[in-house]
Amino acid sequence: MLKFKNAFYLPSGRVFLLETGDGFGIECTEMRDVAVDGKLHKDVRTSNDPHVIWNHLVDYKDKWLLTVSTQKGCNHKCQYCDVANLGFHGNLSVTEIQDQIKFLLESTPYMTKTQKAKIGFARMGEPAHNLYNVLASVLSLYDISKSMNRDITWLPCFNSILPRKTYEGLTGYDVIDNVLDVKENWYDGFLHFQISVNSTDENKRKELFGGADVLTIEEIIKYINKQNIKNRTVTLNFIVMKGVPIDVNYLSKIGLNGEKFAVKLIPLNNTVNAGEHSLETYANYNNYEELIVLSEKFKEKGVPVIYDAIAKCEEAGLCCGQLAQIYQKKI
Ligand code: SF4
Repeated sequence: MLKFKNAFYLPSGRVFLLETGDGFGIECTEMRDVAVDGKLHKDVRTSNDPHVIWNHLVDYKDKWLLTVSTQKGCNHKCQYCDVANLGFHGNLSVTEIQDQIKFLLESTPYMTKTQKAKIGFARMGEPAHNLYNVLASVLSLYDISKSMNRDITWLPCFNSILPRKTYEGLTGYDVIDNVLDVKENWYDGFLHFQISVNSTDENKRKELFGGADVLTIEEIIKYINKQNIKNRTVTLNFIVMKGVPIDVNYLSKIGLNGEKFAVKLIPLNNTVNAGEHSLETYANYNNYEELIVLSEKFKEKGVPVIYDAIAKCEEAGLCCGQLAQIYQKKI
């Protein structure tokens, strides 16, 4: 049974702090998308005025963005993530994951219908280590929304660093197989599978993942190229950081292609852990043009690119794991 502890507000949504039965603080979020094109994009991107964001929020009926936690803390120590500072205190049960989803629906009663609710099983924790509970929760999304009289088209999002061996004894390839089974056979391809890559230098990747043993990019690309992927392609996520190499030619050489993959370029949030490891973003809303230049290199190879530099959660101290950390220190 989860207990509500607190809610914190960003211009585009809320971060909730809940407590598990054994007293651990976990976070879940509900946000609205901010969408702008053309000239206005720069205004919204660079503004610190919440009114500017409020004027460009996407209607709930078009898109709703949710995240839930999958673990109490995390087994890993990624250098850019503040969940790492919490340590690992166990997997969340299916009920605990589902209860976060129900809580988010209950807390947003005016959201009765949406053509896209993107839900990331990625707030706190590495979902690969709790694979069966996470996928069972993914498979129960429609039962949950129907039982609460909501008309929701779900887009689950599974975001992983793909550890070579999981807490439950699965290989990284088993994780890919299980996620793709749910994606292709249960969601008709409409599951967003995002794999954290961050750099094309494997030694740098290992360092950034706090020493975690993960599948190499070459292993990931070669394996996924052999699978059937329909509708949504698999996304490789790169948090762009100064001095962290991203070699587009190398990725292309080892098989990256637009049939199976897309790439997402993400500015580094200004987290405590990133500061302690002297990590700096390569680009954000201040020098957005750099993201565009990098994205063009992928597009030249026929790989679609998503990039977004509006989110400024770092300025509110609401990045993943930051509230839970404050909470754990207090009890
Ligand atoms: S980025 Fe993910 S895997 Fe790494 S410490 Fe944070 S929650 Fe864990």
